[in-house]
Amino acid sequence: MEIVKRLTKTESFQQLEQKLMRTQTTEEDMLKWQRRLRGFQGEKQFASLVEKHLTEGIVMFDLILSFNNKEFQIDALLLMQDDIYLFEVKNFSDDIFIKQHQFFYVDSGHEIPMLLMQKERTLQLFNQFLHAHGLNYTVHYYHVFINPDQQIFGHMPDNHCLNFVSATHLIKNISNVPNFFPHNHLVKALMDRHIKQSQYEKPIQLSFEECRKGILCECGLYFLQKQTLRKITCPCGKTYSVDEVMERAVKEISLFFNDKPLTVRQIHLWSDGLLHKKTISRYLDRNFTKHNETKGRFYTCN
Ligand SMILES: [Zn+2]
Repeated sequence: MEIVKRLTKTESFQQLEQKLMRTQTTEEDMLKWQRRLRGFQGEKQFASLVEKHLTEGIVMFDLILSFNNKEFQIDALLLMQDDIYLFEVKNFSDDIFIKQHQFFYVDSGHEIPMLLMQKERTLQLFNQFLHAHGLNYTVHYYHVFINPDQQIFGHMPDNHCLNFVSATHLIKNISNVPNFFPHNHLVKALMDRHIKQSQYEKPIQLSFEECRKGILCECGLYFLQKQTLRKITCPCGKTYSVDEVMERAVKEISLFFNDKPLTVRQIHLWSDGLLHKKTISRYLDRNFTKHNETKGRFYTCN
């Protein structure tokens, strides 16, 4: 099994996470973040299940495809010998029931039209995509309800709905079929059409001067702290090398200020004094292209 594209937090999710830690929080942002985090945790659970049980095939997580002026997202795509499996992962806490292919909440009885719409639209666009690239595969679409505490009632095989246990069975079964193709044409077409940020997501703006400074841990909950000269840690327990912290600082800055060239002073301020100017300078010299030796020195990507 080969993972061509790993699951990562989307740029807009990372921006939101940064904004929450660096500016005054609004309730709307907080709710949006909680929703995103829940969805991401669900996708992560499914990704670990795939990584654990799939031995054959090619895997791509979290694709945002732009095709024919339309955009659609796929949480997980498994590419096997002649078949493609598309998975939409849902991390719901409410129980649901299915009636004539429609989804409803058990408690309120309200319909969840989004699920069926998403399935029909994604399948239609994905088949058009294959056709446009002269590719012929059988496409299967599944909803995965990953939360093991959630109950799904009225589920029939042709609903193509999986819970945690049945998703595990399916992945194991798929894996029994050997895969001999490299699928290069399709993998390239998918990666070419994959975009980092949905055009429907408005990029979040941050004011460099006004936002709170510091470098956030991967956990997204704390700013990093210096323990010793070489040891930087987070209260969550994770430790970082100086280079890893530098990497994070550059990534965070580029999330919001990609149009500005990198400078030692800017990173020093951003790190809130966590990184010495000399350390920053050395790292940038090694990994970026330097412009102007003395006054007005800045760096761009190699
Ligand atoms: Zn942490």
